[in-house]
Amino acid sequence: MPDTEYHLTRSEAVELDSADALSVLRSRFVVDDPGLIYLDGNSLGRLPVETPTRLENLVRHEWGAQLIRGWNSGWMDLPFVAGDLIGGIIGARNGEVVVADSTSVNLFKLAAAAVQLGQPRRKIITDNLNFPSDLYVLQGLRKFYPALEFIVVPSDGVHGPADAIVDLIDDDTALVTLSHTAFKSGYVYDIEAINQVARRHGALTLWDLSHSVGSVPVNLAASGADLAVGCTYKYLNGGPGAPAFLFVREALQARLQNPISGWMSQQRPFDFALDYDPTGGIRRFLTGTPSVLAIAAVVAGVEVVAEVGIEAIRKKSVAQIAYLEALWRARLQPLGFSFNTPFVPQRRGSHVSLGHPEGYRIDLALINDMGVLPDFRSPDNLRLGIAPLYTRFEEIFSAVERIERVVNERIYERYPTDSGDSVT
Ligand SMILES: *Cc1c(COP(=O)(O)O)cnc(C)c1O
Repeated sequence: MPDTEYHLTRSEAVELDSADALSVLRSRFVVDDPGLIYLDGNSLGRLPVETPTRLENLVRHEWGAQLIRGWNSGWMDLPFVAGDLIGGIIGARNGEVVVADSTSVNLFKLAAAAVQLGQPRRKIITDNLNFPSDLYVLQGLRKFYPALEFIVVPSDGVHGPADAIVDLIDDDTALVTLSHTAFKSGYVYDIEAINQVARRHGALTLWDLSHSVGSVPVNLAASGADLAVGCTYKYLNGGPGAPAFLFVREALQARLQNPISGWMSQQRPFDFALDYDPTGGIRRFLTGTPSVLAIAAVVAGVEVVAEVGIEAIRKKSVAQIAYLEALWRARLQPLGFSFNTPFVPQRRGSHVSLGHPEGYRIDLALINDMGVLPDFRSPDNLRLGIAPLYTRFEEIFSAVERIERVVNERIYERYPTDSGDSVT
């Protein structure tokens, strides 16, 4: 594979695919419409071929036949089995990750626990590249702790303001919480550098790994991370609205309190005692009954990632993003697209945002007329997600060609400029 120079022809894209050791993995996913170029695997991963079979078996043979007995023959363990499987790809130890609830809810649970432990520390530090839901959750938390100072460090819109964050962390900081990979620009933080400074000041770190898990290697233990959360429906292919995961470093588990102290975190939930008596371990951070069917789908998705290994996935992702960058330089930059993603490979994830004043209408034309599914993120970003388990080089080549056509032939002019409420 050429490192720096591409010919940018279709035959070269085909060659890159045939030289790609991971290309066979595409057959592990349902590709219902082979003509559709799917570039939104960072928002909703494709359906693994294995998942419908797993769910069918679980529904018929476990739910259907075992009924309530299923809880004692595996269902209760599922959040931990899935958690350890995910833990294996984010450098956590067994017993540090569990699957439950949504990313937003898990973020609340862990941020609240961190703030409480850190009392009377007042500062929460984040940045303006963070996912809006994360910011909303922190704003909500602040209502319970009015003395908290909630600092949203500004960025240039593309690169995480790492130096400014490091400068702000002090002995009054309770929590530093950031998206490891930014959902819009794809910027990737040096997790270890932030963790080290936080640790030195006794502040906790809480990482949102939603756009990293399954695409960007993370080593939570080695980097000294305290807490993390993340989605399973993006690069882990767990299915729409699949339950999220949370990570709590082992040494912290007994010191933190789960603010949504439901019965699944009770010592002996089936004693139905009236007073809360929390258990230890990662189960302490559960709340209610696990979503068994949904977690089974998460396991099927994560197994593919675990089997391939995150390093191989990352290697292909880095190559495909470099290839997309070369195509942008040659064919899209001249049409007025800006590259709203870092140029340094180590500092970017597996998606690219291309800015264009007509980004929204170009996105609509790609979806409706060109058989390409990217998405749009305001104000002007056409976001192209690369999922190395199934995205081909030739698809990247064709997508760029179609973007070019939409602009050159002004196909986007058929669409209104006003963005409604729909998911794009
Ligand atoms: C997708 C995403 C979420 C989504 O959270 P939900 O609670 O599942 O809706 C949260 N954070 C980040 C960084 C994301 O990319």
